[in-house]
Amino acid sequence: MNQRNYPTPSTFTRSRSGELFEEAKRYFPGGVHSPVRAFKSVQGPPIFFQKGEGCHLYDVDGQAFVDFCCSWGPLILGHCPPAVVQRVQETVANGMSFGTPTPHDNLIGKLILDHHRYVEMIRFVSSGTEAVMSAIRLARGVTGRSKVIKFEGCYHGHVDSLLVKAGSGLVTFGISTSAGIPESFAKETIVVPLADPAALESALRDHAGDVACVIVEPVPANNGLLLQDVEFLQLLRNKTREHGVLLIFDEVISGFRVGFEGAAGYYGIQPDILTFGKIIGGGMPVGAYAASREIMEHVAPVGPVYQAGTLSANPVAMAAGFATLTVLLEPGFYENLAAKTQRFTAHLQDFCNRRGFEVTFPSIGSIFWPTFTRQHIRRSDEIDGSRMELFKKMHLECLKRGVYFGPSGYEVGFVSAAHMDADLDFAAEKICESLDVTMKGF
Ligand SMILES: *Cc1c(COP(=O)(O)O)cnc(C)c1O
Repeated sequence: MNQRNYPTPSTFTRSRSGELFEEAKRYFPGGVHSPVRAFKSVQGPPIFFQKGEGCHLYDVDGQAFVDFCCSWGPLILGHCPPAVVQRVQETVANGMSFGTPTPHDNLIGKLILDHHRYVEMIRFVSSGTEAVMSAIRLARGVTGRSKVIKFEGCYHGHVDSLLVKAGSGLVTFGISTSAGIPESFAKETIVVPLADPAALESALRDHAGDVACVIVEPVPANNGLLLQDVEFLQLLRNKTREHGVLLIFDEVISGFRVGFEGAAGYYGIQPDILTFGKIIGGGMPVGAYAASREIMEHVAPVGPVYQAGTLSANPVAMAAGFATLTVLLEPGFYENLAAKTQRFTAHLQDFCNRRGFEVTFPSIGSIFWPTFTRQHIRRSDEIDGSRMELFKKMHLECLKRGVYFGPSGYEVGFVSAAHMDADLDFAAEKICESLDVTMKGF
C-alpha cells in the first residue's frame, strides 16, 4: 500500500539530493539562499524537491513526503491549487511585469479592504522583510521619533535594526545578531521580553519621547510558537496608545493564517500598522503594509515617507495572491482548517500522553509546534535548547517515513487545506513511530 512511494527506514535515500547539495555548495554560500535551508540543525544534507502537489512534496530521489513546512507558511492551500495555478497561467501569458499600475492591483486591494476591518489602505512590496522595513520607516516618519521596541523571540525579517537580541537584563538596547550591522543601528532598537508587562512599561517610560513604535508578532511563530495571553496584547495596545507610540503587528506569518483578518481580527485588537507577507502572495514573492488612511497617506507620492519597488505588485504576484485570498473567504474555510489541525495534534498528544513522553503540540488555527516539554512556553528564554537534540532525531525519523518538517526545532508546522484526513492520519502514525524511536531512553 505504498502507491505514493513514501520512503521507509530501509529504503530512504538522499543520494541525488546529496550530490546536488555538494554541487550547490560550489556556487552558493552554504549551498543555499536562506540559511535554515542548509539543514544545519538537523541531520544529513537538505532534501532537494522537484515537485509539490496538494500536501505532498516529491524529491529528486523519487520519494514522497507529507509536507508540514508548506514553504514556511505561504501555501495555506497546499501545492499547486488549481484555481491559483490557472489564474497565474492566464496572467503570465499577458506579461510578467509592466512597472505600471494594473487592474490586478485593484482586485486584490479591494478584496482585502472589504474583508479586513483594520485595513483602510495598503501598499504592496515584494517580501515580508521589505514590508517590515517600510512599516518601521513609516512609523518613524509619522512620529518623527527613531527608537523601536521589539520583543525577544520575535522575528521580523532581516531588517538591519531588527536583527538584534537582548543583552543581559530585562530591558536592553539591542545587540546585533549578525555581522555587518553598525552598533548605531542596533542602538535604535530596545529589546524586551515577551509576556512581561513590567518590562514593557519601563521601556516605554524610560524612553518616552524617543520611541516611534513597538513591533510584535501577535502570534510569535518564528522561535517556537510563543502564544501570548490576549491580556498582554491588549496591554500592549493600551500602553502604546497612552504613550503616543505606534503599534505594529507583524502579521507576515499570522496574517490570513489564523483567520482572514489574522491575529488582529482573532484577538479583536487594532494595531496602527500591519505587515503582511507569505500567504498574501499565494506562493509568489509578495509583502504588504497597511494602516488607516491617515497613516498611509504619509507614504510617497502622497506623503514624505519614500518607498518604492520595481517589481512591486507585478501582475503575476497579484494574481496568485488574489486567487488564494478568494478561496480563503469561502464560508467555513478557517473553521475546517482549524478543526483538522486540532484533530491531528490531539491524535499526537494522546499518543505522547499514553507513552508518558514530555512532548506537546501547542497550536493556533492551522499552526502547530512540536516541542519537547510539557511546559506552556511564552518566552524564548523558557525554551530548553538542549531538548532540540530530540527534535533533530525526530526530524530524521520522520523523513525516513515520508513526513517533512521544516529543518529546525524552532520552526512551527503548518497544515494546509490540501491535507486530507487520510494524509493527516498517515502522517500522525508515522510521527508516532518516529517519536517512539526518538524517545527511547528518555
Ligand atoms: C517570514 C517573516 C518575515 C520575513 O519575511 P520574508 O518574506 O522572509 O522576508 C517577517 N516577519 C515575520 C513575522 C515572518 O514570519
